[in-house]
Amino acid sequence: MANFSNKYTSEKQRFAETENRFKALIEATSDVIYSLSPDWQEMRELDGRGFLKDAHAPTKNWRSANIYPDDLDLVNTKIQECIREKKVFQLEHRVLRVDGTRGWTFSKAIPILDEEGEIIEWFGTAQDITLRKDAEEALQIAKAQSDQQKRLYETVTSSTPDLLYVFDLNYRFTYANKALLNMWGKTWEDSIGKRLLDNGYEPWHAEMHEKEIDYIKETKLPIRGEVSFPHAVLGNRIYDYIFTPVFNEQGEVEAIAGATRDVTDRKKWEENLENTSKTLQGLNEELANTNHELEASLGEIAKVNEELLKAHVKIEEGQIAFRLAVNAANFGTWYIHSITREFITDARLKELFGYYEDETLSIEQALAQITEEYRPYVAEKLENAISDNGDYDVTYPVIGFHDNRLRWLRAIGNLKADHSGEFSAFTGVVMDITDQYLASAEIRRAEENLRMAVDAAGLGTFQISAQDRIFTASPKLKTFFGFHPDEIMPYEAAINQIHPDFREAVAKGVERAFSEGTRFEMEYQIIGYHDEKLRWVRAIGEVQLKEGKEYFTGVIHEITERKLDEIRKNDFIAMVSHELKTPLTSVKTYIQLIHRKLKDDDNLSKMLSKTDQQINKMTEMINGFLDISRLESGKIHLNKELFDLSLLLKDAEEEAAATIHSHILIFSPIESVIVNADKNKIEHVISNLVNNAVKYSPKGSTIHVSCTSDHEFAYVSVKDNGHGIKPEDARHIFDRYYRVDSDNMRSISGFGIGLYLCSEIINHHKGTISLESEVGKGSDFVFSLPISPVQL
Ligand code: ADP
Repeated sequence: MANFSNKYTSEKQRFAETENRFKALIEATSDVIYSLSPDWQEMRELDGRGFLKDAHAPTKNWRSANIYPDDLDLVNTKIQECIREKKVFQLEHRVLRVDGTRGWTFSKAIPILDEEGEIIEWFGTAQDITLRKDAEEALQIAKAQSDQQKRLYETVTSSTPDLLYVFDLNYRFTYANKALLNMWGKTWEDSIGKRLLDNGYEPWHAEMHEKEIDYIKETKLPIRGEVSFPHAVLGNRIYDYIFTPVFNEQGEVEAIAGATRDVTDRKKWEENLENTSKTLQGLNEELANTNHELEASLGEIAKVNEELLKAHVKIEEGQIAFRLAVNAANFGTWYIHSITREFITDARLKELFGYYEDETLSIEQALAQITEEYRPYVAEKLENAISDNGDYDVTYPVIGFHDNRLRWLRAIGNLKADHSGEFSAFTGVVMDITDQYLASAEIRRAEENLRMAVDAAGLGTFQISAQDRIFTASPKLKTFFGFHPDEIMPYEAAINQIHPDFREAVAKGVERAFSEGTRFEMEYQIIGYHDEKLRWVRAIGEVQLKEGKEYFTGVIHEITERKLDEIRKNDFIAMVSHELKTPLTSVKTYIQLIHRKLKDDDNLSKMLSKTDQQINKMTEMINGFLDISRLESGKIHLNKELFDLSLLLKDAEEEAAATIHSHILIFSPIESVIVNADKNKIEHVISNLVNNAVKYSPKGSTIHVSCTSDHEFAYVSVKDNGHGIKPEDARHIFDRYYRVDSDNMRSISGFGIGLYLCSEIINHHKGTISLESEVGKGSDFVFSLPISPVQL
């Protein structure tokens, strides 16, 4: 008993010690301490540490006192989970602080278990993490803002043609905009973090910029320079660049930002300007020299009569200066004294007004030759020029006095004060610009006529510039696209309103026109922008050069009616052909039956064979029409397989030998060649060409069939010695329903669909079909088929 009692006492003591140490530990921590009933319904104790509200007596409404309402669900779910699994509760959540404001805590509670493993109590701590959470939130917002800012800068820097970039202090690129990446022909990943040398700059160039970066680091000053180096696409270009220091908060240089502009074109202009001004300077010098010489010699004569001479010297100076200026050009020149209105002209000017050299010509006489319409205008300009500002550049028509010839003249004059200051000399040149004037008038008229014709034909016109894809459309064109005639219609709209079935093909066609210079010609459907109406249009366009710039220009006209007619017609043909097939099949079956019964009657048998042949022909025609309607509605189907074209030709040879007796058919020996194609359809093409050769060449003549190949294509040729085809017919021979209109053709039946079908079948196989023919000598139809890469 004593023993037991001793043991008990020491256990109790140890327990008290542990509890004291535990309490001391709790005292020492600043965290909130709490204990809860096993089901968390009751908070047994809560030491809020000034962060949360204390609970000294057990309480059941600890949730509303301590948990932030929005996080209640979150906390409850977690509690359920932990009770269920008897695991440590750990959660960051919002709480109501002592002062009722929102705070954040990291709460952690451990389940205390009895010997049976049942929870008897939860014991927990809650750490105040409000400051950290608020800081995280602020950081999040700041980051979102800075991301947005970055996107904004990205948009700005990527849409400028200028090159923008940033270097770190180790000469590495930390940023390069789109234009710069394009210039290098590199991606962001390939070039960022790299130095100039690694990004393809030549050593001298890299060294130069690195020295400049050193200079900026040292002086904190920006620098500006000009350099020439090659662009990945555009070749050698001249660039103007500025490097600017980027400072950190301490005012130290932390990076160098650069901007570079392509000034090649500006430089060229400057150079041209410089050359022109040099040339002008040269001319001026020459003129001055000549003037000096003249002045010297004129000075001699000046001694005779100063007064008289003064006037004359001026006149001659004026004339000579003009003569020099106009040099060999056939200009007429004049001089008018501003006070006396003395009018002196040379022979050429008189000639331009229809006067003889030895006749005198007054201002009034000259004005009289100007057509009535222009006369008052020229007289007024002249008067203004002499008495006022001297500005004179007029173009007018003149009827020659003696020769009655119409000339368009351009006169340019200049008013110059005399040394004496008493009067001015109004001098100038007149040139005959009849040819240019009429030519430009002619062009203007032609353009106007064209515009009227375009309007009258209901055509819409458009233009797209190659450089920036700026789209201009005529009012009519806009209406096709369902826009108002005076509304702005951007290029994207022109593409977007195209029916999805055609959109990609049209966009590709336009791009091909730009890149390969091909002509664009397409029929497609448009969905009206405002009215949503479906319209069929036909567009034709090509790339043209205008004032050195490339434009894709063209016309569009509406073909809705025609298209709908075509569709109706096709539907009709398809329906009729289909309906005709059924009775024909029964007729054929009856004929075969009768044939069998009439084996003995030779005559009737022959007649029946003929009837059968005719029915075969008719079936073929109907099938042709059905094929056409399938083609037009895009339903043609190719059953491709690998086969040997030479074997197919062999079959054709045997079939021809059995059925064609009117002509001599020669099949050249053919080597095996494997194609991937629709066997039946190719057979159809061959038999069509052979039957045509038979149809359109005289009886007894020879027809040659041959097949050759290169490493890409196999070529089958069917050559006859028949009527031949004229070039103007040959151009349309593969068109639907096209038949040659001539006397010997009229007697031969047909619908003009055979060759159309052949060409469509071959085109669907990505082959070509062509014709060489000479009238009276014969025709050679050749089609090609791509060879299969697999040769069996
Ligand atoms: P069809 O023979 O039924 O009229 P096709 O499309 O086969 O239709 O031929 C179109 C036209 O081309 C014919 O009407 C004929 O005038 C001409 N043609 C076709 N093949 C030849 C040929 N081998 N020689 C001369 N003319 C031909």
